Amino acid sequence: MFGFGQTPGRMLHAAAIVSITLIAQPSCRRTTTAPQHPVVAYKPDPLRDVRVLIVSDAPRVRLRADAGLHIVCDEDESAHELPGDDWYVVEPSKNSALRVVGQEWSGIECTVSADAESPISLSVFRKGDWALPDQYPGSIRITVDARRLDLINLVDAERYVAGVVAREIWPTFDTEAYRAQAIVARSFVLYEMMDRNHARYDVASTQGAQVYRGLRFDETGRRAAQAADYTRGVVVTAEQSGEERLVCTYYSAACGGMSQSAAIFGEANDIEPLRGGVGCDHCKIAPGKSYRWGPVRMKLSQVRSRLKARFSTMRSLRRIDSIDVTDRTPSGRPVRVRVTDTSGQSWELLAERFRLAIGGSTMRSTDCSIGVKGDHLVLKRGRGFGHGLGLCQWGMEGLARSGQPAGAIVRYYFPGANLTRVY
Ligand SMILES: [Zn+2]
Repeated sequence: MFGFGQTPGRMLHAAAIVSITLIAQPSCRRTTTAPQHPVVAYKPDPLRDVRVLIVSDAPRVRLRADAGLHIVCDEDESAHELPGDDWYVVEPSKNSALRVVGQEWSGIECTVSADAESPISLSVFRKGDWALPDQYPGSIRITVDARRLDLINLVDAERYVAGVVAREIWPTFDTEAYRAQAIVARSFVLYEMMDRNHARYDVASTQGAQVYRGLRFDETGRRAAQAADYTRGVVVTAEQSGEERLVCTYYSAACGGMSQSAAIFGEANDIEPLRGGVGCDHCKIAPGKSYRWGPVRMKLSQVRSRLKARFSTMRSLRRIDSIDVTDRTPSGRPVRVRVTDTSGQSWELLAERFRLAIGGSTMRSTDCSIGVKGDHLVLKRGRGFGHGLGLCQWGMEGLARSGQPAGAIVRYYFPGANLTRVY
């Protein structure tokens, strides 16, 4: 009835749901490892705003809105109304409090909001200049810490989902791919919201989580908003211990032939939807070096300096002698590698972390042959782009082009999962 395919998943009304809990998984990062978290109850009503970390460690920012800005200092609740059509600078003061439009405030935190229909334009000062502004719905919380600013956007979940789809999708993708992307983006963030209920923010706005830069007013933004609206409240769940639980919906650009297991993040208790092994040649339509790549060579001295820069435990790494794969998935994809130096010291690390340390565009996936030849790391027979766990975005587009609806696409990449409408 929602147009999600011939075999619709379980659709529930919010009122029918007592609670949805998280399936015990590590914190749902797309590109990093994290420890186990406890199971947390999901109460869909009322749904609070998503807290998105949109700027961190900025020296100063400026904001404006057509209808003016409303700024509240969180410490003493003093409020200021600033008229529209002008930029207002917020920066740390010498006393590590906030300076707003040249005036020192008593607190270290303020919240900026605008008229409901008027987005807030935000520009960050970096490298001696103001960056091009982005437009954010909702309100923005600004905090000063050690004379640097962090900004958190408090935004309605559906507007956030539309913003993520507009940045994570390729603009030319099929409408059903937009809808599938909306479902996995929503599931991902609701999982994060429940998982990080007491943390300062729910989700970062970079590739480590989901890319988000507020509203987008072009054709892609319009199609993304329609996809969010069409799939409103629908998330990916799986039954465990007699109840539906939210699934952490990882996704990456192209799996290269087969989806990977949650084991690539060092996760032992993988669940059926994240167990991997989904055959996919639908991503072979991906352009450039996404479906197949390599060979790639990198000087071992460069590999060494990148590993030392990324991992404090590897600071004593000397000249690299060998890099060996010590563990693989059943399909043969490297899970762990061991780096040994000429002094005989060795370190074992997850292949995915190794990949991101030396460069995710150089080593486009861990699904490749890894070897040392002379003074070079040599990567051959590369397959896919990204971690390959969960939904394959180019495969999603391939399936959409062949006429598959969004719901069938999502269930294809998360076997055994259901689609559940939680609000
Ligand atoms: Zn694929």
